[in-house]
Amino acid sequence: MSPPSLIQATASTPASAPIALSYELFPPRNEAAAASLWATIRELESTNPDYVAVTYGANGSNRDTALELSHRLLTETSLRPLAHLTCVGTTADELAEIISELLDHGVRGILALRGDLPKDPAAARKPGSLAYAQDLIELIRRVEQRRSALLCAGKVAIGVAAYPAKHPESPSIEHDVEVLLAKQRSGADFAITQVFFHADQYKDLVTRARRAGVSIPIIPGVMPLTSLRRVERLGVLTGVEPDPKLLDALGRADDAAESRRIGVAATVDLARAALDAGAPGIHLYTFNEHAAALDVLDKLQLLRPSRPAVGRRPAAPELVQA
Ligand code: FAD
Repeated sequence: MSPPSLIQATASTPASAPIALSYELFPPRNEAAAASLWATIRELESTNPDYVAVTYGANGSNRDTALELSHRLLTETSLRPLAHLTCVGTTADELAEIISELLDHGVRGILALRGDLPKDPAAARKPGSLAYAQDLIELIRRVEQRRSALLCAGKVAIGVAAYPAKHPESPSIEHDVEVLLAKQRSGADFAITQVFFHADQYKDLVTRARRAGVSIPIIPGVMPLTSLRRVERLGVLTGVEPDPKLLDALGRADDAAESRRIGVAATVDLARAALDAGAPGIHLYTFNEHAAALDVLDKLQLLRPSRPAVGRRPAAPELVQA
């Protein structure tokens, strides 16, 4: 009798596996925004997500507020942060310092990104800076290696970006999949997708990625688009062509309440279709607002692991000088 194979033939998730849930937040730009963000955080915390992603401005434009938000999530809430980090225009030494700082704060999940290219092309070519997300993944793994004793040999979970609609700078969707495979080979553990408007784009990406040898989870990122202005702005920011039907429906909405209902319904349909296609989780882009995200979650009725209620982490005791 031959020994059992150690190689898993399929990378699919068992049908009964619980669905991962995560949210994306951006660091607040001022005190009023911070107050509203913290109200949102408390609402989202009650839904027991697996992690909360904290965005990071390309070129480190909001480095301090991003680090502070991840730190506060760890020390003042029961939430686990996934810290985004971008490498464009930043040297390996500068990035290694930020990664070390994140690890020292207790962050154990990093979304490794290149970041959007700066308007000034020279800034992206700063000597010693990293060109691609793949380079950043390798750097994170090197920093992790140096600190393995501090991490009790534990691993940092590294996420990466994936694109159901072609990345705007990429020559083809095939190239996008090659890049995703390269990121997996360099040490990525999972991917979160850019926003998309058609479930078939997500399904196609997963099919093409699996055929090419990508086995990491590919989590669909969905955004409740509850206003015409938001959809249009998103199209400009991401290069993803908005769905004309959604644009039309939002354009004909009588008021904000109807816009919200339309946006939530479209997001629920998209997320359900992705889940039906085998998506292992849902990542909700929140725009730092909880109402629409919670509406979506309510309607999706996700199969979630039952966890004991987690209390807020107590603040670290102060060191008392004898
Ligand atoms: P990469 O994977 O490096 O790809 C960038 C381009 O280079 C692509 O066109 C790719 O095809 C090409 N490429 C990559 N590797 C190679 C290679 N080895 N050889 C040749 N070509 C290659 N931006 C922010 O600034 N802050 C954020 O917090 C942020 N969060 C995001 C979260 C998610 C889930 C997603 C999907 C995107 C996010 N972005 C964020 C946007 C992201 O930074 C941009 O989409 C950026 O243009 C590309 O980032 P990337 O990590 O995919 O880059």
